[in-house]
Amino acid sequence: MTVRRPLLGLVAGCFALAGVASGSDRLRNAAAEPQNWLTTGGTYAEQRFSPLRQIDAANVARLGLAWAHDLGTDRGIEATPLVVDGTMYLTLPWSRIVALDAATGAEKWAYDPKVPGNAGLSACCDVVNRGAAWEDGRLFFGTIDGRLIALDSKTGKPIWSVQTTDRTKPYTITGAPRVVRGKVIIGNGGAEYGVRGYVSAYDAQTGKLVWRFYTVPGEPGRKDGAASDEIIERLARPTWYGDRYWRYGGGGTVWDSIVYDPDLNQLLIGVGNGGPWNRRIRSDDKGDNLFIGSIVALDPDTGRYRWHYQETPGDTWDFTSTQQITLADLTIGGKTVKALMHAPKNGFFYVIDRSSGRLISAEKFAPVNWAERIDMKTGRPVETPGARFQDKPFVATSGASGAHNWQPMAYDPRRRLMFIPAQQVPFLYVKDEKFVYRPELWNLGVDMMSAKLPKKPADVAAMRQSLKGELLAWDPVAQRAAWRVPHGGPWNGGVLATAGDVVFQGLADGTFRAWSAADGRPLWRFDAQTPILGGAISYSINGTQYVAVAAGNGGGLPLALPAFDGPRTYPGGRMLVFKLGGAGTLPPVIQSVAAPNPARSEHWTPAQLARGEALYGQICASCHGMGTLSAGVLPDLRRSGALTDAGTWRAILIDGALASRGMVSFSRYMTPAEADAIRGYVSAQAEKIAAR
Ligand code: CA
Repeated sequence: MTVRRPLLGLVAGCFALAGVASGSDRLRNAAAEPQNWLTTGGTYAEQRFSPLRQIDAANVARLGLAWAHDLGTDRGIEATPLVVDGTMYLTLPWSRIVALDAATGAEKWAYDPKVPGNAGLSACCDVVNRGAAWEDGRLFFGTIDGRLIALDSKTGKPIWSVQTTDRTKPYTITGAPRVVRGKVIIGNGGAEYGVRGYVSAYDAQTGKLVWRFYTVPGEPGRKDGAASDEIIERLARPTWYGDRYWRYGGGGTVWDSIVYDPDLNQLLIGVGNGGPWNRRIRSDDKGDNLFIGSIVALDPDTGRYRWHYQETPGDTWDFTSTQQITLADLTIGGKTVKALMHAPKNGFFYVIDRSSGRLISAEKFAPVNWAERIDMKTGRPVETPGARFQDKPFVATSGASGAHNWQPMAYDPRRRLMFIPAQQVPFLYVKDEKFVYRPELWNLGVDMMSAKLPKKPADVAAMRQSLKGELLAWDPVAQRAAWRVPHGGPWNGGVLATAGDVVFQGLADGTFRAWSAADGRPLWRFDAQTPILGGAISYSINGTQYVAVAAGNGGGLPLALPAFDGPRTYPGGRMLVFKLGGAGTLPPVIQSVAAPNPARSEHWTPAQLARGEALYGQICASCHGMGTLSAGVLPDLRRSGALTDAGTWRAILIDGALASRGMVSFSRYMTPAEADAIRGYVSAQAEKIAAR
């Protein structure tokens, strides 16, 4: 099904700017080209603010669909598109990339790096990709299996490709690279599994490695020969204890935010959580564990360390600092400060002087109970007793999903407001007393089986009430909310701010909406038919302003979060592009959910069912939904045809029959009898909904 609507018969690509300025100059001066969206964050400052003002608060109610383009996927779409001289570039699940005519949606080319299906197992949170980088006729993007690829942006033909990771380890790339001074900077992910984080710089012309910076120490006595060698030994290693950190990787992956600061010629990287999560296992429950949970400033030419600020010392909650870093000049106490703004998972909004890494202010932007405040003398959090769940469980609000996650925020420099896709997702932390390191699987040191799903309707309602999302307008100087708009639930999409005084955001409820930047007044909404995760952008062609967002369900939380109302049918991923007076429509979605398929003629003992439930929770739930309550992104196993066919079930779980689609063999982690016990448990769950 294709819903491409070439409503404009205009020929794109008429901005013949190439040749006028070099790619590097264009990136540096991206704000002077509001018709384009040249970098994932809009400009190097990553404010996600469009200076275009044809669409404004007074007329946005007339916004309508200009065109839509089916993306041929039903996996999570987290990417922010780029628009360069009339062509839109969008990365897709499984690290595919497509080039579209930005005026009509017509496909120009598509490229599939053919990521092997088994690489999907190392992707904690779906086989997503958050974007590409462009410079001078080249596109750069990372792949789930750890490659960095350069393509000709006109033809989609490969120029070079390098393996940036050790393929024997569970590294992935989901974040967008950045191009800085002739180098392509890329990080990676995998801290849930057991890897050691780093960022690398490759020569944009040749793909040759220029430098690498490791964020956490490796095996003692073994030199990396990397830009980080000296600082790791001097500053980082003394903050780690025991030997498990380096044997299990240590974490500290830089899986999203990498920002170039042209004013100070420095690179700012957001460093992720420790691996395993639980510091008790990772580092004998001691130490700050530098540089996890930190922002680190590096010399972009050499990769040498400049400064760091650690937001979550000795992280034990998966509070990554990988969330978007935004640069702005702020006037604080009558002085202009070259500031960076950060709203990481841990729930504090940080304003940091980026010339030195000095903390200027930090306040809670959402409910936070792991720490009372940030001590401004030391720059360190004042932790709540018990928050580290050493003696008893702790419910953190929010927990691992974060008070704000990777979903982009937007900063309006005229109103001096940050618009944050904030949320509340409580998480029960229970230490894993029986921790065993399992290569290929999640190694958290947190007992994920202890969170029992509510069964009584009142408890289900209470759980739902505890999950919240909002669009939060935050004054970074006063460190307080200017306004907030509550959404029904968490895990909403990224935000775009515009000079038309309109704030755009796609929501988990399947709508794309606009609010007044002044006061959060609702101005417009569109039924996108599917949850929206990624960030919206704006661009213009031949005098027409467009607003664009890629829609599509998936990603970490939607895969795992229980869908109490059952799975829904979504239309699959789509690029949606709007303009004033757009009259396009989407075809209706026909809900067709398969019937539950319990194996009624078979019998499993209570012990088998209990074993099946435990294994399901440990191995299957993070993709197929807690308690088998799949939201429908990946198959609802209660409705699987294989459920009544022991041979097919075994072929999938043990023999890896669907490995090319990412469902690899789990024979290392279960016997054939245990795989069948899982079938028994899922069948019993299927019987429950069949009986209703
Ligand atoms: Ca993580």
